Amino acid sequence: MPVMQETAPCPTRRHDDYRERVIRRDEIDRYLSAGRDFIDDDSIERELSAAKADDAARVRDILAKSLAVETLEPAETAVLLQVTDPGLRGEMEAVALAIKRKVYDNRIVTFAPMYISSHCVNRCRYCGFSADNDQQRRRILTMDEIKAEAAAMCGRDGHKRVMAVYGEHPTSGAEFIADSLRAIYSVEVPTRRGKANVRRINVNAAPMSIGGLKTIQAAGIGTFQVFQETYRHDTYARMHPRDTIKGDYGWRITCMHRAFDAGIDDVGLGVLFGLTDWKFEVMGLVTHARELERYAGIGPHTLSVPRLHAASGSEISRQSPSPFSDDNFLHAVTVLRLAVPCAGLIVTARETAALRDRCVDVGITQMDASTRIGVGAYASRQVEQEIDKQQFLLGDGRTLEELICDLARRGIITSFCTAGYRCGRTGSCIMDALKTGKEGKFCKVNAVLTFREWLDDFASPEALRICEPVLQSELAAIQAQMPRFYPSVKEHYDRIAAGERDLFF
Ligand code: SAM
Ligand code: SF4
Repeated sequence: MPVMQETAPCPTRRHDDYRERVIRRDEIDRYLSAGRDFIDDDSIERELSAAKADDAARVRDILAKSLAVETLEPAETAVLLQVTDPGLRGEMEAVALAIKRKVYDNRIVTFAPMYISSHCVNRCRYCGFSADNDQQRRRILTMDEIKAEAAAMCGRDGHKRVMAVYGEHPTSGAEFIADSLRAIYSVEVPTRRGKANVRRINVNAAPMSIGGLKTIQAAGIGTFQVFQETYRHDTYARMHPRDTIKGDYGWRITCMHRAFDAGIDDVGLGVLFGLTDWKFEVMGLVTHARELERYAGIGPHTLSVPRLHAASGSEISRQSPSPFSDDNFLHAVTVLRLAVPCAGLIVTARETAALRDRCVDVGITQMDASTRIGVGAYASRQVEQEIDKQQFLLGDGRTLEELICDLARRGIITSFCTAGYRCGRTGSCIMDALKTGKEGKFCKVNAVLTFREWLDDFASPEALRICEPVLQSELAAIQAQMPRFYPSVKEHYDRIAAGERDLFF
C-alpha cells in the first residue's frame, strides 16, 4: 500500500464561490410550499403539548395501527413520545419487537463505515471535521488507498456492505464519490474457501444537486444517507454558520426530494440527538418520512439515530446542549420502530455494546462492527491508533465476529444479503414487499446463503460452534415454511458450501 499522505489544514476556509456553485436555488424552491419547507416547528410543538401522557386506551389503539404496518401521524407519534408509565413503555417495546419480527424477521444486517475524506468546508459546531478545527489532520484517500481499505474490510472481517463517508469539499464532489464507489466495487480478495468482495455501498455525504446525484447513482449506490442533524430551524441555525453550505437548511431538507428526482429511490434519514429536545427530533424524522411518502410514494429505507459524542476541537460535543439519556435513546428507538414500521433502523458503534444490545430488543435492524472511523484506518495500523484524530470516539469496539456470536447466542442470524438492490427490489417495490411480508421470503433465504458463506470463509472454530445451530434452525424453518421453494434454496446452499460465492434470490 502506498504511504498515506497527510494534507495541510483544510484549505477552503472562505468558500463563498464554492457555495454559490453547489447550492442550486431552483432545486430548493420547487419543493417548497408557499416558500416554506415542510417542517413547521410550531405545529410540532403544538402536537407535543396536546398529547396527553399515559393515555392507555389511545396508546393501545395506536399500537394496533403500528402492528398493521402503517406509518403513524405526527399526533399519534406525539402520544407515544409522552408515555412515562413503565408498564405502557413495556407494551410499546413488545409491539416494537413484534413489528420488527413481522417485517424483518430475526435478522440483523451488518456493515462498516469507510471514512474516505476528512476535508470539509463546513463548520458544524459538533464535528471534529469542522474547517475551524485546527487540531484535525486532514486526509483524502487516493483510489489505491480506497482499494486497500476495501480489501482489508472484506478480506479480514468479511464485510459485504460498506457505508462510505465523506466531508464536504471540492476535492470530494460527486465525480470523486462515483470514482471511489467504482474503486471499492472493483476489489476482490481470496478467502479460506472462496472469494470476498464489497457488494453494496451506501453513501453518507453532503446534499447534492440532481446532476451530482445522477452521477453517483450511475456508479451503483445502495442507500443515499443524509442526516438533517436537527429539524428545529433555530437550533439548526446555531449549529451551522450561515455562510457555510450546510448553513442552508433548505438545501439540506430538500436533498431527498432531489434524490428521488435523480432516480435514487433508496434513501436514509437521521438526526444527531443531543442538539435539541429529542422528542422534537423524533417528530421531525416522522414528518420527513411522511413527506417523502407523499412526494415519492416511498418512505425512507433507513432511519439512523446518531447521538452527539465527544469530538476533537468541539466544545459542544463535550457538553451536549440537550442531554439525551440512554433511557431517552431506547424510548426514541422504540417510537421510531412503531411510527415508521417499514424503515430499517440503524444504531451505530457510537453507542455502547450494552445499549446496542437493548436496542435489538426494540427493533433495530442494522449494526456496524469492527468499526474504524479514521480515514484509511482499516489498512493502516498507524491511522487506526490515532484515535484523537478521528471524527468522534466510539462506544462499542466489538469485532464483527464478536457481534455475530453475541447475536447468535440470542438466536439472531446475521445477514450479509445485498440482493435487494442488485435485483431491482428497491424503492416502492421493496417497501410494498416489506409491508406484505413478501420480501421476508427472499431475505430469509439470502440471509442463510450469505451466513453460510461468512461462516465458511471467516468464522473461528468457536464462532462456528456458536453460529451453526442458528443457521441450521433457519434452514429448517425455510423447509417447513416454503416447501416448494426449499429444493432450489438447498441447491444454492450446497453450491455455496462447495465454494461457489455470491448466489442469491
Ligand atoms: N459531511 C457529510 C454531512 O455532514 O452530511 C457527511 C459526513 S458526516 C461525517 C456524517 C455524520 O456524522 C453527520 O451527519 C453527523 O450526524 C455525524 N456527526 C458529526 N459529529 C458528530 C459527533 N460529534 N458525534 C456523533 N456524530 C457526529
Ligand atoms: Fe463537515 Fe459533515 Fe462534519 Fe459538518 S458534519 S463538519 S459537513 S463532515
